Amino acid sequence: MTDATLDALYQEVILDHNRRPRNFHAMPAASCSADGKNPNCGDQLTIWVRVEGDRVAELSFQGVGCAISKASASLLTEAVKGKTRAEAEALFETMHRVFTGAETDPTVLKGLGPLRALSGVSKFPMRVKCASLAWHAFKAALDGADSVSTEAAAPAPVS
Ligand code: ZN
Repeated sequence: MTDATLDALYQEVILDHNRRPRNFHAMPAASCSADGKNPNCGDQLTIWVRVEGDRVAELSFQGVGCAISKASASLLTEAVKGKTRAEAEALFETMHRVFTGAETDPTVLKGLGPLRALSGVSKFPMRVKCASLAWHAFKAALDGADSVSTEAAAPAPVS
């Protein structure tokens, strides 16, 4: 497959998940949840997680934002379902490297399945926060925090 074909395929996965987000609903029986905000782009979402023993049994999300942020959340809810907490955290670390372009191991990239569609954001620094928002919210929920912002580490704006 050429790079252009691959890009078109990734684009199609993202558009599809944006149009028909999977697991797009609130989850009253969730074990934990967290809100995520990306003020740069206006993305806002909530992730719900139901943990069973050591396993992430179910995930869902709701929110508004750009196609990348929604598609990433939708892909996350499918990819993480059924994983152990340790596997989910390892995937969080891997995706962080994928978004920033640091993950170059072809075996790792191949093993990502549909998540690989998000790897294109590494070429667009403004989009990295859109793609990683759902993942940070998911990690925050697992860690017992109730919200996360992509601006959390940034200095306060001068008013
Ligand atoms: Zn966005």
